[in-house]
Amino acid sequence: MKNHYQIVIIGGGNAGISVAAQLLRKNRKLDIAIVDAADKHYYQPAWTLVGGGAFDIQETVREEAEVMPKGVSWLKTKATGFDPESNKVLLEDGELGYDYLIVSPGIQLNWSAIKGLPETLGKNNVCSNYSFETAPYTYECLKNFKGGKAIFHNPSTPVKCGGAPHKIMYLAADYFRKNGLLPKADIQYWSGAGKLFAVPHYEKTLLNVCKRSNIKLNFNVNLTEIDGPNKKATFVGFGEDNKDQVYEVEFDMIHVTPPQSAPDFVRTSPLANAAGWVDVDKGTLRHVRYGNIFSLGDAAGLPISKTGAAIRKQAPVLVQNIIDVMNGQQPSAQYLGYTSCPLVTGYGKLVLAEFDYNNTPMETFPFDQSKERWTMYQLKKQVLPRMYWSAILKGLA
Ligand SMILES: Cc1cc2nc3c(=O)[nH]c(=O)nc-3n(C[C@H](O)[C@H](O)[C@H](O)COP(=O)(O)OP(=O)(O)OC[C@H]3O[C@@H](n4cnc5c(N)ncnc54)[C@H](O)[C@@H]3O)c2cc1C
Repeated sequence: MKNHYQIVIIGGGNAGISVAAQLLRKNRKLDIAIVDAADKHYYQPAWTLVGGGAFDIQETVREEAEVMPKGVSWLKTKATGFDPESNKVLLEDGELGYDYLIVSPGIQLNWSAIKGLPETLGKNNVCSNYSFETAPYTYECLKNFKGGKAIFHNPSTPVKCGGAPHKIMYLAADYFRKNGLLPKADIQYWSGAGKLFAVPHYEKTLLNVCKRSNIKLNFNVNLTEIDGPNKKATFVGFGEDNKDQVYEVEFDMIHVTPPQSAPDFVRTSPLANAAGWVDVDKGTLRHVRYGNIFSLGDAAGLPISKTGAAIRKQAPVLVQNIIDVMNGQQPSAQYLGYTSCPLVTGYGKLVLAEFDYNNTPMETFPFDQSKERWTMYQLKKQVLPRMYWSAILKGLA
């Protein structure tokens, strides 16, 4: 194995593979290595539909080898730290030198931050769409539900796809409606955020969706413990009105979103900002202290909702800027903070939220995207997964 590459990319997920493919389309001669120990590559955005029984989980996974761009050296190992002063990445089994570094190892799921969760997840009607292994069990919980309390949780930490914790709640409500169970369902949202959705333009539609299914909303609470066998969840308040208030909530089913953070090996490294994410300029995606380091995707310290859709706009900016820097110039491209959240509001219904750093809508279509639409649901279910495997990962979109 070579121990030095022109460009080293940490993480071969959505971000790492897209950016490598785009770089090679610009210049076939680039000497690029991707460091990633994973055997499998996942299309995670479809896990919401999997949890709702509307998508086959097997369609969301491929071999990592299959998505690796031709011409890239894949180093099947884990990064454990960074030594940016010496232009080195520390690996599980050695170290690796680089001229340029792209950091894209995604976000870390901290399941054990909730007491009792690892032991009960995947049984006792405790489910989560946040992993390949557990997403199908969400649909089992919907099918097992005969009425009672259905709880949907959102942590107070940043999460990937800020809409995912509540999208599954709207699908569940629609599932209960279709099966005549809605009148017997007490659906509750318990969230560590202060509101349902950050962008008022879309939040107004979501509030109506909650109203039509009589969903009760609770904000500024943290889920601290789950007792699966006794079907009890403990939340603790932290808002002005409910500080330290303890809520013991019984449930018939609960969907949990794990608290999330920057990966530990990033958080504790010289690359991190105060919150642990890779400390990049929010316009150029270049590190603020190390000029030959860039970052994109969920691990990047950008004040936006962490999504694959955001990566689609970040990747070409990063590619242009790294090439500029390699040519001795200043970065010329700017990322405006575009992100998107396809908010599934029921079977065949979706609000396509698209917005920038200022939460100002940045919409693609010439109609009001705050309305629920069948066409946008088809975009999520039929078009985007195909586009992911055949164009985004190939550097074509
Ligand atoms: C339930 C759910 C619903 C979602 N819905 C949507 C949606 O509707 N629309 C949307 O746009 N996005 C959605 N997302 C978010 C989207 O999937 C992520 O934002 C995207 O995958 C992030 O890409 P990434 O490359 O940063 O991280 P990932 O794609 O997670 O890839 C990270 C890669 O880094 C590797 N890695 C980790 N640690 C190391 C290490 N130490 N060394 C080397 N490699 C490492 C991993 O093995 C992995 O391959 C959703 C996510 C979930 C879970």
